[in-house]
Amino acid sequence: MAATRSFCRPFASAILRFHLNTTTIGAQTRCFADEPKDKKDLIKSKDKEITEPPHIHAAPGEYQDIKKIFKEQCEGLITGKSELRTSDAYHYLKESDIVIVGGGALGLATAYWLKVRNPLAFHVTVVEQDPCYKQAATTLSVGGIRQQFSLPENIMLSMFTAQFLREIKDHLSVMDFDPPDIQFNPQGYLFLATEAGKEILHENNKIQKNCGAKVQLMNQAALKEKFPWMKSDDICYGSYGLENEGWFDPWLYVAALKTKLASFGVQFVQGEVVGFRKQKKLTRHAHRTIIEMVNVRLPDQSIFPIKIAKVVNCAGPWSGKVAEMAGIGCRSEDSSSLIVPVPVEPRKRYVYMFHCPDGPGFDMPFLVDPSGVYVRREGLGGHYLCGRSPVDDRSEPSTQDLEVDHDYFDEHVWPVLAQRVPAFERLKVKSAWGGYYDYNYFDQNLIIGNHPYFDNFYMATGCSGHGIQQSAGIGRAMAELIMDEEFKTIDLSRFSFDRILEDKPYPERNII
Ligand SMILES: Cc1cc2nc3c(=O)[nH]c(=O)nc-3n(C[C@H](O)[C@H](O)[C@H](O)COP(=O)(O)OP(=O)(O)OC[C@H]3O[C@@H](n4cnc5c(N)ncnc54)[C@H](O)[C@@H]3O)c2cc1C
Repeated sequence: MAATRSFCRPFASAILRFHLNTTTIGAQTRCFADEPKDKKDLIKSKDKEITEPPHIHAAPGEYQDIKKIFKEQCEGLITGKSELRTSDAYHYLKESDIVIVGGGALGLATAYWLKVRNPLAFHVTVVEQDPCYKQAATTLSVGGIRQQFSLPENIMLSMFTAQFLREIKDHLSVMDFDPPDIQFNPQGYLFLATEAGKEILHENNKIQKNCGAKVQLMNQAALKEKFPWMKSDDICYGSYGLENEGWFDPWLYVAALKTKLASFGVQFVQGEVVGFRKQKKLTRHAHRTIIEMVNVRLPDQSIFPIKIAKVVNCAGPWSGKVAEMAGIGCRSEDSSSLIVPVPVEPRKRYVYMFHCPDGPGFDMPFLVDPSGVYVRREGLGGHYLCGRSPVDDRSEPSTQDLEVDHDYFDEHVWPVLAQRVPAFERLKVKSAWGGYYDYNYFDQNLIIGNHPYFDNFYMATGCSGHGIQQSAGIGRAMAELIMDEEFKTIDLSRFSFDRILEDKPYPERNII
């Protein structure tokens, strides 16, 4: 990674001062999972009113320097090319108001929305152990986005992110760089239901429509007419997305976010967070514990401590492990809330790319079979991507490495594909990869907010396979929690860590 320097005030510690001098407890309103809310309860202000990204102004004379450094940074950030350097060589700052652990979609989006609020007021650092993203869920995902969920929160997060992606040039363009193009392919998802799944499909459809999603229920006859290449004799209904659905290139999305963040003066630290230093603090209400330092192991193996005001755990599949470093999920005499772990772990999923020149081609929706097998077009040359999550916990593959099990395709994916789309009997697998879901084994949903034991340890994680498509909404929500101490736009309080402490799952039914 190229040397990363800040363009804004080096340690404009508005938040840090706020944090150290005040006695605020817990940035998040506690709320427990209860009756589903509908859209009007959840939307706190109009999503359409997106804050315009502010522009950074350089002092006269500084511009040429800034431009040069910035170009260097961005090239390094995007290519992931890095030389081994020490913290001094990198000029990393030893203090940062907010440190984000993990530079995947959720971490980057959080940094973006924090900076949009006020690019000069405070300093944001993103710590990423692997700038090449060899194992990150974001870059190994299939980049799908859909409105078709069962929980209003998930529907609205995706709808907002779709709007953000439509307007991505307004949000992420940077002077002297081409405007971002994430290769968005608009295409509806088609969820199929047999007699057994018919009722749930209808219930979900109602919730989706209440949230303003454009989704069409199609009976068997309508499906046969619109998708004649598909066998639908066992299908009662299909739910087809008419708007805000499709897929995009995750790499281009990450690159666009990183470029914008570099222009905002966000510090990128290449290193692994290996621990936290805690401190007890007397507040107006009680003794509280805060995280004081984030310890980062740099590529040269030195430990680089960063003094912080707030830390956000966006470590994706590894966020359970990162939380453990703060004592969450460990036996503790201090607090029973520390015993409960952040229930997120890596779970391996395979994606297979196949070629089938006689396939449905351009007509192909993002098809989700009742069995859980999914398939979508990849480009226009007769290629497709497909996969399937294991049917139960016992069938989960080992997470030791990202090796692909090709027998899994032959036994569990291909038979379903060939049965559903007869042309796929003649497909040829061309390549495949494995990636880790950021799997929340409690209820397969986002966990967002601060940990009740700490004043300043936040997390956004656990989407279990639907995080990239919600990243803009999640990042905005996290910035609201940090800056405003409450959700201002979409109320995500039912996704707080409290539900885990209370043992009240808030499950999403449409997990792929
Ligand atoms: C095969 C597959 C297909 C998917 N398809 C879709 C899809 O179609 N649509 C969708 O919305 N979602 C999809 N997902 C899920 C989606 O990719 C994730 O929900 C989302 O990308 C999570 O983003 P993240 O930033 O939380 O995690 P990540 O992208 O994993 O980022 C976390 C980062 O944290 C870093 N990190 C971890 N520990 C540390 C540490 N100690 N110190 C420093 N850095 C650390 C990691 O290196 C990593 O880069 C898919 C996932 C997979 C695996």
